[in-house]
Amino acid sequence: MLLLGLVMIVTSACVRAADSERSGGSPVADLTAAPTSVGVTPGVASSGGFQELLEASPTPLPEPTEQVAPPPPLRDRAMRLVRSLADKIGSRPAGTTAERQAAGFLAEELTAMGYAVDVKPFQYAVRAGSGTSQNVVASDPEEERSAPLVVVGAHYDSVPAGPGANDNASGTATMVEVARELAWTPIPDVAVRFVAFGAEEIGLLGSKEYVRDLSDADRRRFTLAMSIDMISVGAQPAFGGSEAWVMEATAHAGAEGYRPANLSSYLRRMSDHASFLDAGLPAIMLHWVDDPQYHTAFDVAENVQSDSLELMGDIAIELVRLAAR
Ligand SMILES: [Zn+2]
Repeated sequence: MLLLGLVMIVTSACVRAADSERSGGSPVADLTAAPTSVGVTPGVASSGGFQELLEASPTPLPEPTEQVAPPPPLRDRAMRLVRSLADKIGSRPAGTTAERQAAGFLAEELTAMGYAVDVKPFQYAVRAGSGTSQNVVASDPEEERSAPLVVVGAHYDSVPAGPGANDNASGTATMVEVARELAWTPIPDVAVRFVAFGAEEIGLLGSKEYVRDLSDADRRRFTLAMSIDMISVGAQPAFGGSEAWVMEATAHAGAEGYRPANLSSYLRRMSDHASFLDAGLPAIMLHWVDDPQYHTAFDVAENVQSDSLELMGDIAIELVRLAAR
């Protein structure tokens, strides 16, 4: 989540990190070559070298066609990814090698599920400097071009201060596990894209870039963008954004026994949903309040509440279902 009052500080810190990386000579060209496209073959193993980032699992995920027992629940799968991002990669400020490494890791996860995955680099120039970040965009290679379009999004960069477990490995991991769930059990009559946004913390830059790139045809069929951001620490779910979608999310959380807060105005500029709302596109932020370790070194995986990941994953899937025509 973006803290507006800290944009200047965060920006300069990120740029210092980016500068030191550039002087280290780390190339960005490796990711420009990363876009890949594969057929829908859920469970295909990939070999891009990022698998060592994944926490060891006592039981490998079963092939969907060979399931004899149900797969681990979303909360457990997402927790593994939170640890991969927050513990193994660690702090992931915009423009750094760690941010690029996280993008490659996420691209590999999504590719292995059968999605067509593009890692899309973009240049940015903010007040204190410039650099290169990237969005990771996964879509069905046979996406129906006339179906209502939904973006399930989460930013994967962090502030330099800490490993960003809640902000926002929690949302990123949940987005990836929703993608896995929908690869196993697709929802018909809706086109879903899963987007990991880069450089959110220095001004929602990845989502602005994504919205700028949307075709006119995609804008016409655009039904909902979700920003899943900081969903796993605190006492209460919170939603903000387009009122009709906030009502749906609130109803679902209420049915699960939670009492969500409607924080549409407070959250209006806090996360990537703002880039879609600014373009007149329906959007919602899925969030949780309050995280006392927000933007600190103590935003660690140990604080992540896996029940919250499960709830928000369920809500994201429910909203996709409602968006289907
Ligand atoms: Zn943040």
